[in-house]
Amino acid sequence: MPAPLPADEEARQATLDAYRILDTGREAIYDDLVAIAAAICDVPMAVISLIDRDRQWFKAAHGVDGDSTSREVAFCAHAILNPSETMIVTDASRDPRFSLNPLVTDTPRVRFYAGAPMRATNGQPMGTVCVLDDRPRELAPQQRTALEALSRQASRLMELHRVSWELRHQLEERGWYEQQLLHYQRELEQQNSDLEAQSLTDPLTGLANRRAFSRTLDQAITQAHALGDPLSVAIVDIDHFKSINDLHGHAEGDRVLQSLGEMLLSAEAARGRLARFGGEEFVWLLPGRALDQAVRESEHLREAVAAMPTGLPVTISIGVAALERDEDASSLLARADQALYTAKREGRDRVCALS
Ligand code: GH3
Ligand code: MG
Ligand code: MG
Repeated sequence: MPAPLPADEEARQATLDAYRILDTGREAIYDDLVAIAAAICDVPMAVISLIDRDRQWFKAAHGVDGDSTSREVAFCAHAILNPSETMIVTDASRDPRFSLNPLVTDTPRVRFYAGAPMRATNGQPMGTVCVLDDRPRELAPQQRTALEALSRQASRLMELHRVSWELRHQLEERGWYEQQLLHYQRELEQQNSDLEAQSLTDPLTGLANRRAFSRTLDQAITQAHALGDPLSVAIVDIDHFKSINDLHGHAEGDRVLQSLGEMLLSAEAARGRLARFGGEEFVWLLPGRALDQAVRESEHLREAVAAMPTGLPVTISIGVAALERDEDASSLLARADQALYTAKREGRDRVCALS
């Protein structure tokens, strides 16, 4: 007759499932244990059997075919009902629990059975290490002791299997989290550098903006003072730009600003040192240039702009100032602006320097 289920079968099954041992492959170390069990007990069959929902599954089997039977016919399902005792059946054909069992009436015609329950660390029985014979027999006390020792060894092996699986799983999970963190960090860094670039670039022209220019200018002034090098700045303002907007529309005005931006970006002398200062005004840093050199280069820029093929007559006025001893950025820019004002007043499309 089939064994009744243990009272806490659900917890028992959950414990067994947590070992993740069911349906794993054959392993020599478990095969060794059943070979030793059969040898010590002097029987033809030995099995490490785990009691699963509706089957007994063999982690190792010696002298027994197949890797499972139904739970209904399992001797071990009876053995786990008393997990602290080795169950011994000396002659199954005379035991009312087993006399009609097909494992008894048919091959392998079991007569003798001894099963030592394997317990999880929480005490739940997972199955047994058992030995079987097709002849009735007894188990000597030292054989029983050895069988119980082998059962504890098998439990330890399964425990090892469980712990190593959990460790591996945790390591894999940690690796995955680290991977994710790295990914997010890279994304953040990318976003930050994008933002940084955006916060320093004028969106219409692609030139550096006033903020970026202020930084560059401050650094350049500090360096010029330290080394005693010359340095000039030029403020560039489009002439009568309001009329371009008024006559051709704001979009056309934008287009002119963009073409000028492109041209200034590509102008070798101005590369990296020209910024949109605001509106239709640009500012140009000329490190290492004394006033006369800066004026000459500004003159070239003015001519280049006048020759730009924008389809409209676009001219610029430029005010230039050279850094004086102990001068700071705002004073230098104010003087360049003053020069620009002079250029405008004197008729535009020209370069003026504050002497
Ligand atoms: P001036 O020769 O004295 O510099 O005359 P101006 O018309 O160029 O100078 P003003 O300061 O009177 O006008 C500047 C104009 O630039 C006014 C503003 O509408 C236009 N402006 C500023 N920023 C932009 C922009 O981003 N796009 C366009 N289309 N126009 C702009
Ligand atoms: Mg203007
Ligand atoms: Mg202006």
